[in-house]
Amino acid sequence: MVKPTKPHHIETELVFSKSSDQFNASVPPLYQSATFKQESLSNMGEYDYTRSGNPTRTYLQHKLAAIMKANQTFAVTSGMGCLDVIVRLLLPGDEVIAGDDLYGGTHRLLTYMNAKGDLKVFHHDTTNTELMKSKITPRTKMIFLESPTNPLIKVCDVKAISDYAHSVNPDVIIVFDNTMMTPLLMTPLDLGVDIQYESATKYLNGHHDIMAGVIATRNPSLAERVYFVINSTGCGLSPFDCWLLSRGLRTLAVRVERQQRNCVKIAQFLEQVGFKVRYPGLKSHPQYELHRSQCLGAGAVLSFETGSVTLSEKIVEACDIFGIAVSFGCVNSLISMPCKMSHASIDAKTREERDMPEDLIRLCIGIENIDDLIQDLTRAFLKSGAVKLNERDELFNAFPVHPKL
Ligand SMILES: *Cc1c(COP(=O)(O)O)cnc(C)c1O
Repeated sequence: MVKPTKPHHIETELVFSKSSDQFNASVPPLYQSATFKQESLSNMGEYDYTRSGNPTRTYLQHKLAAIMKANQTFAVTSGMGCLDVIVRLLLPGDEVIAGDDLYGGTHRLLTYMNAKGDLKVFHHDTTNTELMKSKITPRTKMIFLESPTNPLIKVCDVKAISDYAHSVNPDVIIVFDNTMMTPLLMTPLDLGVDIQYESATKYLNGHHDIMAGVIATRNPSLAERVYFVINSTGCGLSPFDCWLLSRGLRTLAVRVERQQRNCVKIAQFLEQVGFKVRYPGLKSHPQYELHRSQCLGAGAVLSFETGSVTLSEKIVEACDIFGIAVSFGCVNSLISMPCKMSHASIDAKTREERDMPEDLIRLCIGIENIDDLIQDLTRAFLKSGAVKLNERDELFNAFPVHPKL
């Protein structure tokens, strides 16, 4: 792999390929091989066994390092696999702080480890920087952050929290889950984060045909420890999935830009209809300015409340283009009710404590034609009774992008 002399912009880097392949294949080859023969007994060569390393994985990891502005990245079998690797860096009984609106699976693993006594996990509202500062102590070994969270779309001040935590304990490891923003819209490592990870199942791959996760860091000793765990447990991403992820990655910029453009329009449309919308690209979002200060865009996931669980259920069921599915980041649009789906693993009492509305609907916006998406939602609102027929014209006048039904 020849390194470019000057770093490319991310859009170029995503599609740029200069391989040292013997046939000059324009697509980096897939090394679907578990083992590699040695030159001789004494000369092992660069690769010996795919659990430890594989050229297709190396190619992907170099590409990811360039776009995540990391020194090293590691591709593993899923986003949760990333978290599993990262928590293995801790010692028994270590204290960690985690957000109170983290991804459901993250919450499940941390709760399990807390219950077993492996870790002491404290959940706090990360949007409250002063509260976070009052909770961080020299005993805090790791802090888990996400911004914006989903489905509540809460934004935290990543730099303020990271800087303060490092001033209290220089060895604290700030871990940031950047699945929602992707490297296109956010570079958490620039904000003082020590380890960034992403579920590549979402935007990075973008086609919902593989599960994968990526861990990135600039710290060589953390990278060494992360690699040790991956090589020991065997959770490195398989060569074929590395190859597919490399392919998906090439269109990351065009996909996310289009998804975001669609999402901004849908957010404005939903506000116009009168729903309470959570999207960091809307001025009505309480942390609109903070989000803008640390990200280049608002992404393509939003949520909104209808005021009634039954009404939300009817809307979700009445959509046609929006598929009912968990997950996000794929090229097609999805709709879900987090409390019944992705976040059902958080018990109802905890959901209530965290002000998670049971009627919340999450939309994950794809690359479809925007008028089709808005028409699909409008039909669902009419069918479910959320919008009355006599309000339809008013809506159309206020929001001309939506075609009259
Ligand atoms: C999906 C997701 C994960 C978990 O990733 P998997 O690839 O599904 O294991 C972690 N964090 C966030 C924010 C996610 O959306």
